[in-house]
Amino acid sequence: MSSETTDATPIGVGIVGLGKIAHDQHIPAIQANPAFKLVAYASPTSAHTSLEGFKDMGAMLAAHPDIQAVSLCTPPTVRFALARQALEAGRAVLLEKPPGATLGEVDALRDLAAARKQTIFAAWHAREAPAVDPAKAWLAGRQLKSARIIWKEDVRHWHPGQEWVWSPGALGVFDPGINALSILTKLLDERVIVRGAELFVPANRQTPIAANLDLATETGVPIRAEFDWRQTGAQTWNVELETDRGRAVLSLGGAKLEVDGKVLAEAPDAEYPGLYRVFAGLVRAGRSELDAEPLRVVADAFLLGARTAVEAFSF
Ligand code: NAP
Repeated sequence: MSSETTDATPIGVGIVGLGKIAHDQHIPAIQANPAFKLVAYASPTSAHTSLEGFKDMGAMLAAHPDIQAVSLCTPPTVRFALARQALEAGRAVLLEKPPGATLGEVDALRDLAAARKQTIFAAWHAREAPAVDPAKAWLAGRQLKSARIIWKEDVRHWHPGQEWVWSPGALGVFDPGINALSILTKLLDERVIVRGAELFVPANRQTPIAANLDLATETGVPIRAEFDWRQTGAQTWNVELETDRGRAVLSLGGAKLEVDGKVLAEAPDAEYPGLYRVFAGLVRAGRSELDAEPLRVVADAFLLGARTAVEAFSF
């Protein structure tokens, strides 16, 4: 940030990729946070009724020196080039999850941001769910015996008509599943090792619609993860923890924590306001936070996964 900018000056933000998550979460979270001023957006075809828009990010940044940070809300396969371009133009970068299409891209961005002393932030929104920190505090000092993730939702509801989720470089069912893995890797002090994976890929698609993972901590505590995009009706986003002193269930995507049947924490969703609080602090301090562990677990599942073709999918 410019040396003339004080903590009282809002950070000018440009949104890149005016799709579902930009509308649902980024725009309201930025506009509700006085640390930011939403200046403009860049998106090839979509339009907004009240914000200034550009067809591409380069034109937006050239027109607006007051944009100090960009939030990249595009599909993952175009994010690397945009992030490099923004960093080279002297802007801080928030990366929607996953932070890259590959681990190499994430490493390259980390190095570029460090070399330029600029902020880059991998925004793992599920880690900001209100019961995740209470769950981590509860787990500290207990011995984990096993864990289970059940993350099942309806792709037609959450990704209506988004063909890109089925393309190479997108994650298929790991697009939501990586949220569970971002919570798990925040809760645990050890690395998560992939021991095996079953990937269920629609006959007409490139990415899995369901996956079962056989995981373990480095010291061998077993973790089972079941991801499925074919669940209609009630949606399930649970992380269950069996310990030497009690059983915890983190449900509703991390919004509620129950221990041995008693509610320990529950609060309404405030994930994106939480992300933007973190991002403001990083930009002001000139620091970065770019954790690739959830993406590394997914990449390892793709490396080890046995593939089974299942029924063709259409929206
Ligand atoms: P989406 O609705 O398909 O929106 C993506 C947008 O990116 C599109 O509007 C598209 O623009 C734009 N875009 C594509 N290439 C671009 C480029 N080169 N420059 C600028 N804009 C470009 O997808 P989404 O659901 O918002 O997901 C975006 C990211 O957010 C994904 O990584 C996803 O994992 C993450 N996310 C999504 C959700 C969710 O519930 N959907 C939740 C959390 C995180 P045009 O429309 O202008 O063509």
